[in-house]
Amino acid sequence: MEPTQAIPKVFVSRETEQEIGSGLRSLRPFQIEKVKGDLSAGTLAWVVGRTGKFIGQGFTNPGKEIAFQIVSIFEKEKIDAAFFEARVLAADEFRQKTLKFSDAYRLFYGAADGIPGLVIDRFNNICSLQISCPGVEKYKQAIADALMKINGVDTVIERNDFRNREKLGLAVKKGVLAGKARVQTVINEGGVKFEVDVMRGHKTGFYLDQAENRVAAEKYCFAGCEMLDVFSYTGGFGLHAANANASVTMVDMKEAIGQARRNVKLNKFEERVSFIEGEAFEETKKLISRPERFDVVSVDPPAFIQKPSEKARGKKAYHQINYNCMKLLVENGVLVTSSCSHFLSMDSFLKILGDAASNAGKVASIIELRSQSRDHLMPLHGGSAASYLKCAFLRVNSKKS
Ligand code: SAH
Repeated sequence: MEPTQAIPKVFVSRETEQEIGSGLRSLRPFQIEKVKGDLSAGTLAWVVGRTGKFIGQGFTNPGKEIAFQIVSIFEKEKIDAAFFEARVLAADEFRQKTLKFSDAYRLFYGAADGIPGLVIDRFNNICSLQISCPGVEKYKQAIADALMKINGVDTVIERNDFRNREKLGLAVKKGVLAGKARVQTVINEGGVKFEVDVMRGHKTGFYLDQAENRVAAEKYCFAGCEMLDVFSYTGGFGLHAANANASVTMVDMKEAIGQARRNVKLNKFEERVSFIEGEAFEETKKLISRPERFDVVSVDPPAFIQKPSEKARGKKAYHQINYNCMKLLVENGVLVTSSCSHFLSMDSFLKILGDAASNAGKVASIIELRSQSRDHLMPLHGGSAASYLKCAFLRVNSKKS
């Protein structure tokens, strides 16, 4: 028997074959016409055309929203530990050599780097990974061992504690996969230090997607400038403003403020940073009734729209918080406003901002439109939908009567 005959097969239409040729890597159930062989979760299988011609190979995920994840379009490529090592090290080399990231960066980003369902972030000496594909899960230890070969990496942890793992039939857990049991480190982001707790921080430990936006916001701050950082988390935008000598007020809930205080101390910015612990909508409303106004306001909320059914309510929330923040700006003030809601397009976000400005009695102009940092490469096939983060830098003025 020919060895390839034993490989399970997934049959797709000519149309899907063409899409795979253009970069599609995650197949939905409706795109699979027929299957042959044992296709239990995580099995290595071939995607073939109606005539049985090889198109790609990857992992099955039967019965799930994403039914198949293609990792290679080469018939002879062996999918083993060495394959994962090569992909991971190549992605790292691209970040370091071409993009010039060295200390903290998204080292591997799913389909854009050739393996859907694998995300790896690097925080100085610690790598943190997330897997959402049962086939990739089988190579978790091989991936961790490969990461240990990167100069400066001494620990690899998994942050596989997100809810979606259960739906995929994978254990929800976090822990050390390789190296030392240390879970805290300090990163340097454009001259600002952040303590990152990779076990407790959000997502893989820290929001790296905003890194270049935080650095970019610095250039609008100056000595004597008043900056307000709404939804400051561990101090992201505010610490960069303080780095440009601004006086900063950070607003977030109690738990996040604790880490922000430690980061302020780490950078010796205690004299120019103050904190408001509380609910952002309430606190910004209270600030409107006071006389102080700010030269720069950053507003970086959690995703208000997590599924399509939340669109209407989420849009209202974006409108309200941006309305409040625009009210808090001086003439010629700069608003740095973000939305990480996947289900909100840049155009819809800009429309909300325009309406919020008008209701607040303001006119706003776009200075910069930005997305996630360059280390978060996006698959071209996904089109603009792959770019989930929207960050607009606006100049805000009063409407002249
Ligand atoms: N700007 C940050 C990331 C913000 S993440 C950075 O650059 O790292 C979103 C933050 O919003 C979290 O810290 C969370 O604690 C906070 N948050 C969520 N809902 C909130 C609310 N209603 N009021 C105040 N803070 C809130």
